[in-house]
Amino acid sequence: MAKKHPLPDAHFPRIKVSDRGASRLRGGHVWVYRSDIASADGIPPGSLVNVIDPRDKFLGTAHYSSASQIAIRMLCPESMTDFPTLLRQRIMAAIAYREPIVRDTDAYRVIFSEGDFLPGLIVDRYHDVVSMEVLTQAMDSEPLRAGVISALTENLRPAAIVERVEPRIRELEQLPPRDSGLIQGEKKETEFSMNGVRFRYRALEGQKTGAFLDQRENYAAAAQYAHGEALDVFCYQGAFALHLAGRCSQVTGVDSSRPALEMAEQNASLNRREIEWIEANAFDLLKDYSAAGRQYDTIILDPPAFARSRRALETAMRGYKELNLRALKMLRPGGILVTCSCSYHVSPAEFLAMLAEASRDSHKNIRILENRSQARDHPMVLTIPETAYLKCVIAIA
Ligand code: SAH
Repeated sequence: MAKKHPLPDAHFPRIKVSDRGASRLRGGHVWVYRSDIASADGIPPGSLVNVIDPRDKFLGTAHYSSASQIAIRMLCPESMTDFPTLLRQRIMAAIAYREPIVRDTDAYRVIFSEGDFLPGLIVDRYHDVVSMEVLTQAMDSEPLRAGVISALTENLRPAAIVERVEPRIRELEQLPPRDSGLIQGEKKETEFSMNGVRFRYRALEGQKTGAFLDQRENYAAAAQYAHGEALDVFCYQGAFALHLAGRCSQVTGVDSSRPALEMAEQNASLNRREIEWIEANAFDLLKDYSAAGRQYDTIILDPPAFARSRRALETAMRGYKELNLRALKMLRPGGILVTCSCSYHVSPAEFLAMLAEASRDSHKNIRILENRSQARDHPMVLTIPETAYLKCVIAIA
């Protein structure tokens, strides 16, 4: 970080944070919650603000949200006059960061919000289509959108840029509703490949921005150990299943979403693979299959986030335990379990403790082959724990 500038820019409103808020920022986090700021009356939504501590000491420049519980997202510990220039520099830095570490794929996350010091902005690339999502009042402003679009166009030269909208996030930020749609170019469909596996991509359909790019490196890792009969539970559009297909004698994918399975089947044809897709509630199916004594050599568990808040943790842990216990019971000796959780609120230690319980209850002494996390294009900032959310454990029975 550059040397601290002693004086804030006089043009921006000032916002005072509590001691707790200040020490959070000094610890390297970038968020201050609404309960840790003094009155912000009259500060326009999404504006740049000068953050000061209770003794009026300048802490840096931030984006302010008038609606979110996260009232302040810090941008830099200096004064700033020109955010568009900083935005551009950080977009270029995010692109440069990925050049040496993203391999064997033309689909990856280009900008990971706080992970790339660009709070409120997500950008994913799927071959020649770029998908962006804005999560905050500040990033939604026209000048910033224009800055993002021009930097992406210049540096990535995509055939199209689409915007994906999560209506609930806009509601929470009190932003006017907006539809997902093309914002540049015409192309809404394309094809991408990762680790040698091909995928169809429809920019305006599917969950998240279309795929679960955070699992990209885990697909390749899982494929290394996979063998025999495999079951991919919560398969979505079949990414794990397709990666296993080259190694396994038989692969079955399970998901409750029919549209996801239809795409999965198209992906299977594209790769000339035969995979069985089952539309079912995974909990019911695992219960029935384990009661029927079915056995597998490889099982993937990649459920949606069960714990969306700390309060939901207990119920979530029961869900993870049930799934993992059933899966372990169905594993043949030497079988491989790939088990994931994308809930930030479940810590890696809690996840392993749950797995240990499932191991004990299933009377399977499993061993850990790999204790993994999210792909490196989703950078984890040590002082912002929320940037590290994905757990992926590969174990052998
Ligand atoms: N493994 C996938 C991502 C899974 S995301 C990949 O790497 O691409 C979680 C998936 O779980 C979603 O596709 C969702 O449709 C599915 N899902 C959610 N609840 C479910 C349930 N109860 N039973 C089966 N599938 C479920």
